[in-house]
Amino acid sequence: MNFDYTDKVKDMRERLLAFMDAHIYPNEGRFFAEIAANRAQGNAWLPTKIIEELKPKARAAGLWNLFLPRSPRAPEGLSNLEYAPLCEIMGRVPFAAEVFNCSAPDTGNMETLERYASEDIKDEWLEPLLKGEFRSAFLMTEPEVASSDATNIQCRIERDGDDYVINGRKWWSSGAGDPRCAVYIVMGKTNPDAPRHSQQSMIVVPSNTPGIEVVRPLTVFGYDDAPHGHMEVVLKNVRVPARNLLLGEGRGFEIAQGRLGPGRIHHCMRSIGAAERALELMCKRLNSRVAFGKPISAQSVWHERIADARCRIEMARLLTLKAAYMMDTVGNKVAKAEIAMIKVVAPNMACDVIDMAIQAHGGGGVSDDFPLAYSYANQRTLRLADGPDEVHRQSIAKLELAKHILIKAEVDMPVTRGC
Ligand SMILES: Cc1cc2nc3c(=O)[nH]c(=O)nc-3n(C[C@H](O)[C@H](O)[C@H](O)COP(=O)(O)OP(=O)(O)OC[C@H]3O[C@@H](n4cnc5c(N)ncnc54)[C@H](O)[C@@H]3O)c2cc1C
Repeated sequence: MNFDYTDKVKDMRERLLAFMDAHIYPNEGRFFAEIAANRAQGNAWLPTKIIEELKPKARAAGLWNLFLPRSPRAPEGLSNLEYAPLCEIMGRVPFAAEVFNCSAPDTGNMETLERYASEDIKDEWLEPLLKGEFRSAFLMTEPEVASSDATNIQCRIERDGDDYVINGRKWWSSGAGDPRCAVYIVMGKTNPDAPRHSQQSMIVVPSNTPGIEVVRPLTVFGYDDAPHGHMEVVLKNVRVPARNLLLGEGRGFEIAQGRLGPGRIHHCMRSIGAAERALELMCKRLNSRVAFGKPISAQSVWHERIADARCRIEMARLLTLKAAYMMDTVGNKVAKAEIAMIKVVAPNMACDVIDMAIQAHGGGGVSDDFPLAYSYANQRTLRLADGPDEVHRQSIAKLELAKHILIKAEVDMPVTRGC
């Protein structure tokens, strides 16, 4: 495996770093100030002007839709391995990915439409998403059932003539708070009597369809994540044309697996960026403050923590690159162990490193005067979103155990093997 940056990636990396310095870091304060001003005027759910101003600049700089590999509709898309170091840089600032049209859940939704939608649906919904003209949400999780087991999903999608009619209640629908959110991909059951993994389907639903009610925003440790938010959404007799069903009835589980692989690794790439930034802030703070007669950075306990942070970031980055390389070369299905491993490793690592950085900042660390508290809140959710740690660990363990079942079978059949 060769993880050297190609000349193309080196060049894009330089351009991205320059863009971050010129446009992203200097506007961090403005982004949050705009949301605070909107909130003070009674509506936090308005798009920020700063993101809309920066999007054309990112596009002009050739830093647009980099996440989508192998799509004729997005020729600028990179392989997962090429994208990894760039996505990591975007992850240093929570809102940055949107500026480059590389933010969740749009990226996962675009990838789903690219892989599984008809050309008509792609023209209608994928094209404007690729242009950054509106946003999207993915509605799978439900308040009533343990949704980490997707076979529990209760939402009904029932055929009625040329339409499907949808009834259900979803929550944690990220992005559904944004007034620009024009389309949902909804997971529900078309046939509750089919075999367990063939009951679910996915369907494209315009967000202005009658019967949809966005009930309330949820908060993450008190943050509402405006303007995209995480919404509870009720769907009552929501009617959409049958052609909006993706791939076919009963294929929702298959699509979910295909969708979540790339989405997961993108989160992990950004987690590494968030951890790198936390380590940088931690070192600067510890060097700049004196306690008990010497810089805090001179205390050996901080040497231990800084060294630990550096080791764990490097390990997580290498595993992310390995997973990205495998996704590119042998496909998401064969790379499933590596995708599951990095989905456990990266957010846990990032949470621990950010936690150390918060400690290094003293009281300031838990305030919003520094980006650490919000970054911690974001990273902590990734131990749940796209599947909780335990479920990924379970997949890794099953694959590991299966290897040894095979060996036992071989040991039990020495004669057959000898022939
Ligand atoms: C900020 C945020 C954004 C999100 N965005 C979206 C989104 O856009 N769209 C969407 O559909 N969903 C979204 N989610 C939902 C997320 O994917 C679910 O919360 C997650 O899949 C877990 O489902 P659940 O909440 O129903 O937990 P449950 O399924 O009730 O699980 C609760 C806990 O049980 C434990 N558990 C579960 N299975 C096992 C097991 N096999 N072994 C041991 N322990 C286990 C775990 O500790 C788990 O955390 C988001 C969540 C958050 C926090």
